[in-house]
Amino acid sequence: MKNPFDTDERRAFRKTVRDFVAKEITPFADAWDEAGVIPWELHQKTAELGVFGFGIPEELGGLGFDDAFMRKIWAEELAECGAGGIGAALNIRTVAINPVVQHARAGIRDRIVPELTSGRASASLCITEPGGGSDVASLTTKAERVEGGWRISGSKTFITGGMTSDYFIVGARTGGEGLGGVSLFFLEWGAEGFTRTAIERKMGWWCSDTATLYFDDVFVPDEDMIGPENMGFMAIMQNFNLERLAIVCGSLGSARVCMDDAVAWAKERVTFGRPLITRQAIRHKIAEMSARIDALDAYANQICWSINEGDMPVAELSKAKFLATKTLEYVASEAMQIMGGAGYLRGNRIERAYREVKVMAIGGGSEEIMKDLAVRQMGL
Ligand SMILES: Cc1cc2nc3c(=O)[nH]c(=O)nc-3n(C[C@H](O)[C@H](O)[C@H](O)COP(=O)(O)OP(=O)(O)OC[C@H]3O[C@@H](n4cnc5c(N)ncnc54)[C@H](O)[C@@H]3O)c2cc1C
Repeated sequence: MKNPFDTDERRAFRKTVRDFVAKEITPFADAWDEAGVIPWELHQKTAELGVFGFGIPEELGGLGFDDAFMRKIWAEELAECGAGGIGAALNIRTVAINPVVQHARAGIRDRIVPELTSGRASASLCITEPGGGSDVASLTTKAERVEGGWRISGSKTFITGGMTSDYFIVGARTGGEGLGGVSLFFLEWGAEGFTRTAIERKMGWWCSDTATLYFDDVFVPDEDMIGPENMGFMAIMQNFNLERLAIVCGSLGSARVCMDDAVAWAKERVTFGRPLITRQAIRHKIAEMSARIDALDAYANQICWSINEGDMPVAELSKAKFLATKTLEYVASEAMQIMGGAGYLRGNRIERAYREVKVMAIGGGSEEIMKDLAVRQMGL
């Protein structure tokens, strides 16, 4: 389908990213996922594409501009590698970077943002706790005021990059109950009282490490609070918007991968004397998958356009997020059905997408929470 928002620059960017993914990532994706780790050099090579620098000033190592369509292209094309854990491991820094760029004091910002955009270091965003992730306003990790700063106690779990990140943006309670009592802090690995353990044996995203973090009276100086005291909830919510755009576009890319692989299989596979692609039942599956992918693509383009216009369409992002994961869930299932038993085997992109869609449907705001938010945004 022709995209009315395509430009020469965006087409060139897509080609650059596509070539990079095909050469530097896809051939190794299976092995990295099975090994449970990506090589650190990939962070640095990927950084050279500029994809960690959207919306970040050039003096901090960023691109000096933002373009939601390019963000979309990056997520879609990276999905071609067929292993979502690679995107999670690479892009977690971009989820953590925004509060630092927008709200951190210059000392922290100027020191760490260039390290993050260049792929020399990584950062994690730490919101979810053992007691829950959806209800951010009720988080219980506590920051108590002491002379010169704060002492943080509590625990975070399901933290992407938690075992390998150098820097951590942590939500903690500095005030009373509810959303008005939450602040954000900057922590470095190595701080006294800060420990971590790996969460092993996940359903997917194997090459992206996930951790539980423990804070035992960790001292954080005043200047390492990010943004104003008790205003962390808004920063967390704003930050979710671009993370959700990435999940929408990654799911879109992943759905395309599933459909492409299923179509290629249907052309090759002969049953009862004819290729599968000639069977109406299979052709209808392809029509249905394709229609849902096109609709999601068009919706995502409209959202990108709106973001580039200076709006942040929260309701549409929320609706697109659950639409995207529902689309991927449907397409991955139908694509695996077309592949038959072969689709059930490890080492193919459909099998992995089928497993990994669940983390997309739960993380960054679950489908249920997205529906609640969308309806609230509709004024209901
Ligand atoms: C691999 C992985 C990586 C992750 N990475 C990070 C990370 O880097 N940083 C981070 O902070 N978090 C991370 N998360 C956590 C993720 O954001 C949470 O899992 C998510 O927000 C849901 O929180 P929860 O698991 O505690 O579920 P809960 O909040 O306990 O919810 C459980 C279920 O109930 C539903 N539910 C909750 N409340 C309601 C309601 N009011 N009405 C109807 N249904 C409801 C939810 O939708 C969900 O389906 C990660 C999770 C995974 C699996």
